[in-house]
Amino acid sequence: MKDLLDAIVENNRHWTQYGNVATYIPELSKGNAHALGVYVYDVDGNEYSSGDYDVKFTIQSVSKIVSFMCALMDNNFEKLCTKISVAPTHDGFNSIVNLETKNSHKPLNPMINSGAIATISMVKGDTPEDKFNRILDFMKKITNNPNININHDVYHSEKNTGDRNRALAYFMKSTRIIGDDVEWILDVYFKLCSMEVTCKDIAYIGALLANDGVLPFNGERVTTKDICKIVKAVMTTCGMYDGSGEFAVSVGVPAKSGVGGGIVAVVPKKMGIGVVGPALDKKGNSIGGIQILKDLSNRLDLSIF
Ligand code: GLU
Repeated sequence: MKDLLDAIVENNRHWTQYGNVATYIPELSKGNAHALGVYVYDVDGNEYSSGDYDVKFTIQSVSKIVSFMCALMDNNFEKLCTKISVAPTHDGFNSIVNLETKNSHKPLNPMINSGAIATISMVKGDTPEDKFNRILDFMKKITNNPNININHDVYHSEKNTGDRNRALAYFMKSTRIIGDDVEWILDVYFKLCSMEVTCKDIAYIGALLANDGVLPFNGERVTTKDICKIVKAVMTTCGMYDGSGEFAVSVGVPAKSGVGGGIVAVVPKKMGIGVVGPALDKKGNSIGGIQILKDLSNRLDLSIF
């Protein structure tokens, strides 16, 4: 496996020159566009890595699956569906249009910004700190990494420039998808996007989902098989933004990307895969990361379809 990962990373390194790092906030534009790395963590606890797997990046939208898991544990699927749909979208990750045009005004799914903000509003917690810590603590537990924390520069930039997210949230307040606590829900959202991780951390999240809710490193069940099933289904249809259909054809496993350049992929019953490559395509997905996952899926016949 190690040799295979080394070969795949080297063969795909050239892709990093085609994309662009996210520039919507200055801190992200400082990301290393040429970094490319992969980490595989299988359900038996074996770990393999290659390339720049220890590069730190902000988790961004990969955090949406962690918030979604917490919201499902704190409510149930039916209750969550009164506020958020699970329908794919061909619009961008920060699109506002469907919030107005769909009859229910529900955000289309928890993997885009509007849906993630609504998801966070459903997570237990009486104060912003409670809500954030609920999700951060779960994140630390499932990654087996007590040192996960936020990158404060990215957080402040997200908060200072997050007007599109603010617009989404206030629109959802006007249609009663979320309550009065808009600013503090947004604050939790900005903090969650700013958590700093490596490929290893997100591979651990993937392995938990692959292992149906049981942590591979200690056998502890931390969530139900049903919740993992829901999260993986929504990742498959919505996890790669408006590139989800293409990704399902070319890679064929549940995945979630973030504009920090990370992608987590889940091979059910087998492994979690974390990749990093901050150079992004036009849809906001890591160019090199997708290529690594394509090659790995082809070589190991990983597609679930
Ligand atoms: N912080 C980003 C935003 O809210 C996250 C987007 C993403 O990774 O998709 O715009």
